[in-house]
Amino acid sequence: MTLQMPDSYWAATAEPGDHYLALDGQLKTSVCVIGGGYLGLSTALHLAEKGVDVVLLEAGQPGWGASGSNGGQIIPGFKSERSDLIASMGEEAGSRLFAWSGSFVDDTLDLIGRHGIRCQASRAGWLQPAHSVNSFNAYEKRVAEWQAEGIEAYMLDRSEASAALGSDWYMGAYYDPRGGRLHPLSYTRGLARAAAGAGAWIFGDTLAERVEWSGDIWTVRAATGDVQADQVLICTNAYTDSGQALVPGLAQSIVPIPSYMVATAPLSDNLRKSILPGGETAADLKKLTNHFRLEEDGSFLFGGRGDLTETDDPSSFRCVTAKLAEIFPQLKDQPIAYRWSGRVAITTDGVPHLHNPAPGLWAALGCNGRGIGFATSYGKLMSDLLSGMPALDSPVPVTAVSRIPFHVFHLIGARAALWWKNRQDTRDRHAKP
Ligand SMILES: Cc1cc2nc3c(=O)[nH]c(=O)nc-3n(C[C@H](O)[C@H](O)[C@H](O)COP(=O)(O)OP(=O)(O)OC[C@H]3O[C@@H](n4cnc5c(N)ncnc54)[C@H](O)[C@@H]3O)c2cc1C
Repeated sequence: MTLQMPDSYWAATAEPGDHYLALDGQLKTSVCVIGGGYLGLSTALHLAEKGVDVVLLEAGQPGWGASGSNGGQIIPGFKSERSDLIASMGEEAGSRLFAWSGSFVDDTLDLIGRHGIRCQASRAGWLQPAHSVNSFNAYEKRVAEWQAEGIEAYMLDRSEASAALGSDWYMGAYYDPRGGRLHPLSYTRGLARAAAGAGAWIFGDTLAERVEWSGDIWTVRAATGDVQADQVLICTNAYTDSGQALVPGLAQSIVPIPSYMVATAPLSDNLRKSILPGGETAADLKKLTNHFRLEEDGSFLFGGRGDLTETDDPSSFRCVTAKLAEIFPQLKDQPIAYRWSGRVAITTDGVPHLHNPAPGLWAALGCNGRGIGFATSYGKLMSDLLSGMPALDSPVPVTAVSRIPFHVFHLIGARAALWWKNRQDTRDRHAKP
């Protein structure tokens, strides 16, 4: 069965992609990558550039998952601050992960430039508006941490943020000059073309069903063929399905959460001029993040969490459209042209996971809703690990696959978490500093 791309603004405006045929028969290779999002494609591209034989299997076409549907904001760093990473991982590991996260945007823009990928990429700067005085005050720590690394990040006060965003809903904003933007589906398609051009074999419409070890080689089995490989990398992120026996417990090690986006019909010239006039993209600091950007054709894209169903039924998008109208009241009557969703993979510790459950078998996942720059850099890192870099040198530590208790009830848990986070955001907004 062919998986259809969601009917999104991105699908309607992307650069044309190549069509990748399904695997047909037996193949032998050095590395088999499962999953054709940014992580799988970046790994395949970097491996092929090193001259390593690589085959990539994707259940749909490249970009069918979150990589073709997201907000297109290339964000430096993780959601956790440096001090949080150090508190949870220790001084050395936390500092190393934080330092690595500073390279996400450069790695992405370099790769795009090097391969001439047409995806409207630019370093437009990134805004993180604060919904409360307390969250605004918390930026001081972030700004100090990045400035200590030589980054000229700074804070915008309430009136500066209002002018930069076109909304006076926020109390101020964090500005990071490194942040960038791109067309997410065009980027995925360009990555796939670059990887294939560098020698990677990419197969679409090919669901990997099982991964087996026969004593001297791994075999990845799909309905239409098998791939034998010395090493296998699974990067199926929030689309990791417990129905496939790839790695026991992997699907239960993350919580897959649908995330929603809408695109308005093009705004009038007057409205356009007032919203994000500097061309930055923005994602706020609420626990239930809203993110937004304005397109050259005047469409305004706005994302957030919805009711957790995966549908394009307008009623499921009510939370998102209501928030859009609250933050940008000037757009409350603007028609919505597209509605779509994709899944993000949440980990309980908020950082990406890397597993190596058996020699030659790897799994990398857990984007926590931020994965354009991160997955591009993670792919480069995976290509190094798969070609011999010692695991101890990896900024993402190798850990055992750990099942989240009561994972079978994750949707109930996610609903409760959404309710709780929404309550926290509301409380926080009205809290006295
Ligand atoms: C609505 C939304 C907005 C977002 N906005 C941003 C943003 O602005 N900035 C940002 O940095 N991040 C954002 N993200 C997160 C970002 O999109 C993801 O972190 C990133 O795309 C993850 O890439 P990936 O390659 O790990 O996974 P994916 O792109 O999800 O790819 C996984 C792929 O694996 C395939 N697959 C699954 N199982 C199998 C199998 N058994 N065999 C073969 N193939 C399989 C799937 O078909 C899928 O294509 C957003 C996400 C969403 C959903």
